[in-house]
Amino acid sequence: MKKQDKQFAVIGLGRFGGSICRELHMLGHEVLAIDHDIVKVEEFVPYSTHAIQGNATEEAFLKSIGIRNFDHVIVAIGEDIQASVLTTLNLKEFGVQTVWAKAQNVYHQKLLDKIGADRVIHPEVDMGMRIAQSMASDHLLDYINLSEEYSVIEIRVNQQMHSRTLQDLRIRPKFNITILAIKRENDINVSPLPSEVIYSGDILVAMGLNSNLKRLEDKLM
Ligand code: ATP
Ligand code: ATP
Ligand code: CA
Repeated sequence: MKKQDKQFAVIGLGRFGGSICRELHMLGHEVLAIDHDIVKVEEFVPYSTHAIQGNATEEAFLKSIGIRNFDHVIVAIGEDIQASVLTTLNLKEFGVQTVWAKAQNVYHQKLLDKIGADRVIHPEVDMGMRIAQSMASDHLLDYINLSEEYSVIEIRVNQQMHSRTLQDLRIRPKFNITILAIKRENDINVSPLPSEVIYSGDILVAMGLNSNLKRLEDKLM
């Protein structure tokens, strides 16, 4: 499926939902913007495919806009936890494939998980963790959580690893880490061969168990 064919809907056009909506629209996707506040709806007319006013907790409203046809729906209602939970529940009952929901606190997060939200985001906590990770390490440039145990990280090659191949650094046998790509200035080498030579300043995109990634990072300190 082409990415343009995916249908997105954003419910709640606050700072979080609003930035998701703008970004999807800018990337050329179809995005339906929903808020019960008409001022928000009007503000998002230029940044969405359609902007609709309505209360997402009302089943009849969700049905009238054909919400079941959307592949990804994000519930970006924060303050009103009851509205967020009810909306999420309705979306899952209507059969929306992937429901993303923003959590306001850990209790809200647990509740969303329990009622079947496919992805729960806690922006302040998630962003705080990312920032702490990059502040704590000079080598670690970025990371993505794949699950609780697995991540993808970007790590800078230092002098110790300069001018050596992936094979003689024994990254896979020693750390059980897969190098997905090597970035060098503006080039990216995807699926590098074991014989690939890396240089100080290159960026490795590495995937593996968090504990193993941590071992690799420690080795680079
Ligand atoms: P921010 O992302 O700015 O931190 P927030 O998480 O604090 O936002 P709110 O400001 O409470 O969340 O809500 C976000 C938006 O969701 C608001 O524009 C609000 O009007 C809208 N909203 C709240 N409840 C509903 C509802 N039941 N139906 C539709 N929109 C709603
Ligand atoms: P969150 O990240 O939870 O969204 P926030 O951005 O809404 O937080 P606040 O809750 O207003 O920010 O403040 C964050 C913390 O900073 C609070 O624990 C507060 O006590 C503390 N704080 C606020 N002002 C000061 C200050 N002048 N000196 C020291 N600490 C402060
Ligand atoms: Ca808020």
